[in-house]
Amino acid sequence: MAELLDGVEEACARELMLRPSAIQPYGLLTVVDRESDQITMAAGDFGGFLGKEIAAKGGALADLAGDSLESLIARSGEPLSHIPIYLTTLNGSPRGPLVLLAHILNSDGPVVVEFIPAKDPEAFPADYQNSTPRLLSRLRGTIERISSAESLDDAFNRTTRAISQITGYDRVLLYRFLEDGTGTVVAESKTAELSSYLDHRFPASDLPTQARELYRTSRFRLIPDVNYKPAPLRALNGSDEPSLDMSHSLLRSVAPVHLQYLRNLGVSGYMSLSLLVEGELWGLIACHNSTSRVIPYETQEECCHIAELLSRQIESRQREAAFSKKAQMDAASTALLRSIVAMDQDEYALLGRGSELLDVVPAHGVAVTYQDKVAAYGTNPGDAAILHLRDALAAKMGEEGFYATHCLARDVPAARAFTPRAGGVLAIRLSVNTRALVLWFLAEQIEEIKWVGNPHESTFLDEETGKLNPRASSAVWRETVRGRSRPWLAAELAAARFFQERAAFVFQSRYVADLNESLRLANQELANLASTDGLTGLANRRIFQERLRSEWARALREEAPLSLVMLDIDYFKRYNDHYGHPAGDQCLAAVAKAIDGIAKRPGDLAARTGGEEFAVLLPATDLQGAEAMAEQLRQRITGLQLPHSLNPEGIVTVSLGVAATRPHRSDAETRHRLVLAADVALYDAKNSGRNRVCVSEI
Ligand code: GH3
Ligand code: MG
Ligand code: MG
Repeated sequence: MAELLDGVEEACARELMLRPSAIQPYGLLTVVDRESDQITMAAGDFGGFLGKEIAAKGGALADLAGDSLESLIARSGEPLSHIPIYLTTLNGSPRGPLVLLAHILNSDGPVVVEFIPAKDPEAFPADYQNSTPRLLSRLRGTIERISSAESLDDAFNRTTRAISQITGYDRVLLYRFLEDGTGTVVAESKTAELSSYLDHRFPASDLPTQARELYRTSRFRLIPDVNYKPAPLRALNGSDEPSLDMSHSLLRSVAPVHLQYLRNLGVSGYMSLSLLVEGELWGLIACHNSTSRVIPYETQEECCHIAELLSRQIESRQREAAFSKKAQMDAASTALLRSIVAMDQDEYALLGRGSELLDVVPAHGVAVTYQDKVAAYGTNPGDAAILHLRDALAAKMGEEGFYATHCLARDVPAARAFTPRAGGVLAIRLSVNTRALVLWFLAEQIEEIKWVGNPHESTFLDEETGKLNPRASSAVWRETVRGRSRPWLAAELAAARFFQERAAFVFQSRYVADLNESLRLANQELANLASTDGLTGLANRRIFQERLRSEWARALREEAPLSLVMLDIDYFKRYNDHYGHPAGDQCLAAVAKAIDGIAKRPGDLAARTGGEEFAVLLPATDLQGAEAMAEQLRQRITGLQLPHSLNPEGIVTVSLGVAATRPHRSDAETRHRLVLAADVALYDAKNSGRNRVCVSEI
């Protein structure tokens, strides 16, 4: 199938060659050398139109036009380009007046001069001279009417009506192209006998890519008679095969496939005007006539102006609508994120913000997932389906974490079960870690399409001739399209991206703040996990607690005594104040070293339990032993002879509290009593003059 389609495309490209080497015979074409004024190529019935032939070896344009190309261009006052400019009108030719139009394909190439009927001999019989004021006034009226239309639909109708009145075609269709390349008829003016094509759909294959490109570059096309006999392009001066790029030529002979297509529609005379919006082919005004019909130059120009006016109107209305819609959605986005920032919330908070999310992107429903939680609002496929979707879409969302479709069931087969509630989905990811997603849903939109011809039959390649045949039948073919929603609008996709970016910023900065906080806690935890005190190298408070617990348990088991000495430096605040903190630290380290050197029995533990407080745990030591040890310690420290001018002793001294017990219960409270008792003893030592040891009984 794909191969056949490629074949069709290629054949189309061939057929649509821009060098057909022939013209439609309703006018004349010449290729003129600007310097010599000599005609180098020609096509058409010169005898019939002008009453004189061009000699086989060529001739000067001046012989036909009464003036040389150079002076005609100079008089026109317009620069030459690929858009044909008006040069002059030839009156007195047997088939009525002709206008001469000139265009070039590149700046140093030859000039193409075309001779086109200036008026329809039947439409304006006698007063061609007066047609200009009439045309201008009529054009003004049309512009007025189209510009004052209330809606675009109204403007479409006014346009088809105006074109039909001006040109007299049986049927004037205005169709716009949809994203899938099909064309839908949005306005129509026709004679009463014809059946209507309004709201009908034309298959995308009716206008293949190459044809579309041609409609975009040359916006006007006239085929007065689909049964015309092409007039070949002749090379004069005996030169070889004529070859000419005719993409901007009005008389260009059209692809046979197109003619056959029109014949199948029952059309003999055809004209089309392209509607370009933002540089893209937005739609076409197609005019059909059951008999052949020549549209004179002035009327062509009038129609082109109308089409241009309508194009600009579509463009400005679309921009306006997109702008105000975007402004609304952006405002909703900003308001929602502001309130989240104000309340210092994270993605989790979006679970409760469904109605606001529906303002961010207007849809039928919305859901938020966060870890394994789901919250859904409006029309939605239900929590289980949403979680399934989240997993199914994970791979499709890519790095950007963005996915949109108006035909969900095509990407996620399981979605067929809930297509009525979610024909289309637009999903954005806010966080990979928390699996936070926002999914907007569009309900299924069942479409009744009235096709002009069976779209599945489409254009086919004739195996024998290698030529394209358009669909043979243009009978109306009805199709019900299910399984999809309306397409997401560009403005909606942009709004979702805008929200995603902003939200990422908001949540990301919050995440970074959270990260810093947990980093701080982790560092603290790490510090706690360390077992030694950084300044003194003694065991820290945590280790002291642990050892107290384990030694207590052992003492309990072994029915052994356990003692504790608590020690505090005297007047240490004054020491700091007088000698400075760094000196204080050195003093602490010196005292610690003295303590560490004394508790040397296995199981003994010296620890720094506070700023300048130390504890010595002495297993299997009774109160007397502990007291002796404490006294030894006190002497060791005075023996250091560390000067302390604000201590009445003149040196650094310590106070010590001693407690001992024989544990017989394992609970924390009993254990704590030992610590309390040592503390009380230390307090006594301080109160009774410092630099001494006190004991406390339990
Ligand atoms: P006393 O114990 O004799 O009643 O008087 P004090 O001045 O020693 O009183 P206290 O025990 O309440 O004072 C503790 C002081 O120890 C307070 C603080 O300045 C100091 N300190 C605590 N930790 C450190 C430390 O790590 N380095 C230094 N240089 N000083 C510390
Ligand atoms: Mg203290
Ligand atoms: Mg102290």
